[in-house]
Amino acid sequence: MPEMREIAPNIYQLKVPLKLSEPFINVYIFRGETPTLMDTGTNTPGVFEMIQTALQRLGIKRLEQVIATHWHVDHAGAAHQFAKKGARILIGAKDYGEWKTFATGESFGIFREWARDEWEIPDGLVIEGMVKTYEKLRHMTSWPDQVEQIAPFQTLHAGNYALKAIPTPGHTMGHLAFFEEQQKMLFSGDILLPDQVAYPGIWLEEGKVTSGLPSQLKSLDTLEKLNALQYFPAHGEPQVNTNERCQESRAQILHQVQKYDPHISVYEGALRLRQGKANPVALFTQLHQVYGWKQVNEQLSKSVNILEENG
Ligand SMILES: [Zn+2]
Repeated sequence: MPEMREIAPNIYQLKVPLKLSEPFINVYIFRGETPTLMDTGTNTPGVFEMIQTALQRLGIKRLEQVIATHWHVDHAGAAHQFAKKGARILIGAKDYGEWKTFATGESFGIFREWARDEWEIPDGLVIEGMVKTYEKLRHMTSWPDQVEQIAPFQTLHAGNYALKAIPTPGHTMGHLAFFEEQQKMLFSGDILLPDQVAYPGIWLEEGKVTSGLPSQLKSLDTLEKLNALQYFPAHGEPQVNTNERCQESRAQILHQVQKYDPHISVYEGALRLRQGKANPVALFTQLHQVYGWKQVNEQLSKSVNILEENG
């Protein structure tokens, strides 16, 4: 039996192993009026069974709903198996399409374009290596027949609690954190993690290819305003220093932006981080990061110019 513990009355943290760069994901089980699972682990053998066993142990006969913090394979991958057992599946409105197009492979064409145009990856083999990695990941998720969309700031019942969906874009466009206002508990997904800053996503916004990093910085501001007393991340252990960690994460991002060299391509910047080695999995993350630094850097220099013009 995997590690499970009660982190608040009738809320349980279950550590589910992953076969990804992250060794575990925390899924949260809410027991009570509305039996709820937050995040699911991947669509890989054993994961669904492990969570089912935990539910049984907690005396939960029927899971009413699955809430995903975002669409990534470790968070929503196994959702369709719970859907088959009659649970409703809910995800942030802006992650709905991202998940669907990834699960069906539709987004792969646009990924090739972005890799060439935005990141300036010259070699077809490098892009194909990343697409292969993507293809492997695609098998760790599956699109359920029915998925409901969570609106920004919508309140959801989970167990005996009320959770407010807080839009926290950055890691994905539709990422949601969930806030329990009575006890000031924050379920932060991947937007606030104790030991790392999750890489920023990339998506299309108003027709423009957009890095998630500028939004990620704003999301940290949003979280800080909640004044949560505790946060429960998707990776790592529960923490009490929510606002401190928001500030630390922001400082870490801005420090990297400062070191960013705008004279080289995103691809070259990522290679420099890899010291020339191009492992497709690591490269994928690094490209997202460098692209994020580039866009934040552009925004910062634009605002400096405006200040100078007005001054
Ligand atoms: Zn994650």
